[in-house]
Amino acid sequence: ICWSAKGGWHRPRVQPYGPIPLDPAASVLHYAQEIFEGIKAYRHADGSIHTFRPDRNAARLQASARRLALPELPTEYFIQSLRELIAVDGRWVPTGADQSLYLRPFMFAKEAFLGVRAAQKVAYYVIASPAGAYFTGGVKPVRIWLSEEYARAGKGGTGKAKTGGNYASSLLAQSEASAKGCDQVVFLNEKRDVEELGGMNVVFVFKDGRVVTPESDSILEGITRDSLLQLAEDRGYTVEKRPISIDEWREGVASGDIVEVFACGTAAVVTPIGALVGDGFDEPQPLGELALSLREELTDIQYGRREDKHGWLLRLDA
Ligand code: PMP
Repeated sequence: ICWSAKGGWHRPRVQPYGPIPLDPAASVLHYAQEIFEGIKAYRHADGSIHTFRPDRNAARLQASARRLALPELPTEYFIQSLRELIAVDGRWVPTGADQSLYLRPFMFAKEAFLGVRAAQKVAYYVIASPAGAYFTGGVKPVRIWLSEEYARAGKGGTGKAKTGGNYASSLLAQSEASAKGCDQVVFLNEKRDVEELGGMNVVFVFKDGRVVTPESDSILEGITRDSLLQLAEDRGYTVEKRPISIDEWREGVASGDIVEVFACGTAAVVTPIGALVGDGFDEPQPLGELALSLREELTDIQYGRREDKHGWLLRLDA
């Protein structure tokens, strides 16, 4: 779908996958005015195709658009774009356990000019790619590198938006994590509160039944996190969204108050954190039952194996 300041949203269509023509002066290439989403389509046992809480992805795309001075795509257009793609390409939604079709809606500024201002011409696309099970041979706890040198986002910046710049700024820290033998990096803010991983939110489980996740104006509000916290609340856990410092994390694990730490996001769903590694320390993290049991409950809902009591699924192929 295209957008222009004069004509609004127009020209919705499905076209064969291929390169996108872009003027070398297209402002996205210079000023990174772009946003995206990540959402999956799941095939149920009866063959039907469903997606999970697309209204949330649409709302987050709209919030990202506001922050990046892009036009807001109405929720109905967002959902229509997924439906039309599935109408043409539904055969690509796999049938295997834990497999899905990953959908990547994205929007960028395509107006050609070199001044720094919000573009008046924009394009919105959705591409898709079959995604196998994220973990082969079972879910494995990950080692997390504590990034002391690099921040992902700053106060008043774009950390809450799903925009490429946040990921660009996380790449060097991710390379550092890999060089240190870690799978992922965890970012702190200027107050040394825990923010998130490069592409996942973090959740802490306390011994007394509290489930705590960082509240911050510079992290992405994960839809997986929101759903898992709802399921935890349904089970009687007390959910807290509040700042949690790196000291509280390390001391909580040392004293036994924190009994489990996990990361979550659309791609991997839930990943237990098995070690926190930093300059001069390598601290094993306690592994508990909650992460994997919430993971099972959530994927059961997504794949239609369990009742969708919150009405989170939307059928795409009918
Ligand atoms: N934080 C970041 C930086 C991410 O890229 C993602 C993945 N979209 C998440 C958190 C988790 O969000 P969600 O559960 O909506 O996939």
